[in-house]
Amino acid sequence: MSYQVLARKYRPQKFSDVIGQEHVTQTLKNAIEQERIAHGYIFSGHRGIGKTTVARILAMCLNCRSAAKPVPEPCGVCDSCTEIRAGNSVDVIEIDAATNRGIDEIRELREAARYLPARDRYKIYILDEAHQITDAAFNALLKTLEEPPSHVVFMLATTQPEDIPQTIRSRCQHFSFRAVKFADILGQLRDLARRENIPADEDALALLAEAGDGSIRDALSILDQAIASTADRLTLDSVRRLIGAAPARALEVVMQGVAESSSEKILTLVDELISEGHSPAHFARQLVRFLRNVTVAKIAGKDSALLQISQDERARAARIADLFSEEDLARHLQIMLRTHSELGYRQDQRFHLELGLLKMAHAQRLLPLEQLLSEVAPSTSGTPRPAGRPVLAAPSELRRTESQTPARSNYVSPFAADSARKNTPKAETGSDLAANPVRPGNTGGTVVIMGSAAPVVSEIVAEPQATAANEVNAESLRAVVLNTLSGQPMLVSMLEAAEWSMEGNSLVARVALSSTMIDMSFTADARRIASAAVSGAAGKPIKMQVLPGGTPQVASPERRPSSNGSARSRAEQDPVVRSMQEKFGAEIRTVIDYREKP
Ligand SMILES: [Zn+2]
Repeated sequence: MSYQVLARKYRPQKFSDVIGQEHVTQTLKNAIEQERIAHGYIFSGHRGIGKTTVARILAMCLNCRSAAKPVPEPCGVCDSCTEIRAGNSVDVIEIDAATNRGIDEIRELREAARYLPARDRYKIYILDEAHQITDAAFNALLKTLEEPPSHVVFMLATTQPEDIPQTIRSRCQHFSFRAVKFADILGQLRDLARRENIPADEDALALLAEAGDGSIRDALSILDQAIASTADRLTLDSVRRLIGAAPARALEVVMQGVAESSSEKILTLVDELISEGHSPAHFARQLVRFLRNVTVAKIAGKDSALLQISQDERARAARIADLFSEEDLARHLQIMLRTHSELGYRQDQRFHLELGLLKMAHAQRLLPLEQLLSEVAPSTSGTPRPAGRPVLAAPSELRRTESQTPARSNYVSPFAADSARKNTPKAETGSDLAANPVRPGNTGGTVVIMGSAAPVVSEIVAEPQATAANEVNAESLRAVVLNTLSGQPMLVSMLEAAEWSMEGNSLVARVALSSTMIDMSFTADARRIASAAVSGAAGKPIKMQVLPGGTPQVASPERRPSSNGSARSRAEQDPVVRSMQEKFGAEIRTVIDYREKP
């Protein structure tokens, strides 16, 4: 006897054998019991989940000869049942609409439908891939559906029900099939392996079930191949080789590399995979799915029903989820999705995969822009903070703010601020000069210093000068610096939050940021300008330095220099934004001005 593929050999012959579609089969059984047979049915859903199978079982139920009327489960042994199962029943006509989709075929069908069934109760047309039928043909079909002969039943199986005209759909009962659950597919595979006497490891079956991706038929066809390619026992490795999947461990290693921003780890792994013969596109696809699962594990927990994977994979997803924030994962998923879709039409797939993975590693180093903005501008948050959480300033902060301002929080979540903004009806985002009165005495100073003193400072600074250090005080020079740099609001915000002190001939501002962040904001130009300004004010060479290691200070709003121009132009001038633009080709989409909100 010739070999029969598993999907056909074990095709369900009764509603109760159909896996994972109880909501459909139960409804159909009830309808038959109540003798409420429709003339048109649409079965929709992904491929390989039992649409045509259910259509055939329904046909058997309708025409089964074991009773005088349609039965809720076919007997499976009468002439009708056996013929329908074999596909040679005269009164059950299966049409592949992908190839017979034109008006002529449907006209023919319509003509034939007028005649009574040859032997059985109903003349049944099963149209597979029904969405492929042409519009004209659908119109011809519609005529029959509008006034169907009582003996005719149409069953339309489709993966794209939305492509079936509404006029047709409204005349049919529509059943949406569900993707089959992982556990159900796994159970089915286990059962079949036992019935076929194929020894199989549980993790091998789990991988097969995952590869089926909600489709029983796909899972079974891979099982077919696996059985054919394996001599004795079905193991995880043999299945993995068969479907070309990289070991799940590799996915974990990549994401660990991303978490550690270790580009080397990532490139080494890619090299190993490629040299083992894995396809970059396939790996990218695996990684997309893995990241999706990790994201779900992060959001809904590893035991969520949203995850259709084995227990081992759940644990793995949870381990990786712990390394990232939800936002990180969303960003990585986006990067990999884009990488995966690009790989399809690119040459040099390997390089594009590497690029995508490196992008993730780099993205891991980036802070969200909102977080960045609120960290460098803690004192200027005029935005309302979340209600019910008053933040008391520490004693040192109170001393600095004195009685000018009420206690402020150092940090207002940008998201809270943003939602507060959105809930304020009149608030506008791009606040401009009108909302932001210019305070006198800023611009003049800046221009003079930039023009004259700046270039010479670096030389003067080099000379040691021991006297009169006490005459200059950090507090007054601080004002000079903030005024001078008023054209760079982000830098000013950062400096406002700094701890200021005189250290020898240096004016030092200590900020709670990394030196990388400082370098991005406090550029060489800014240093030169600030040094020139304080040197001018103190009447002696003073070097302006910004160093890491400070604790955030609360500054008074009065010190804030007025800004020139709109929020957007200030954003454009900002050094952090500029270097983002230069390094990553970023563009400014929306400017939300947290500083100016009342
Ligand atoms: Zn029967």
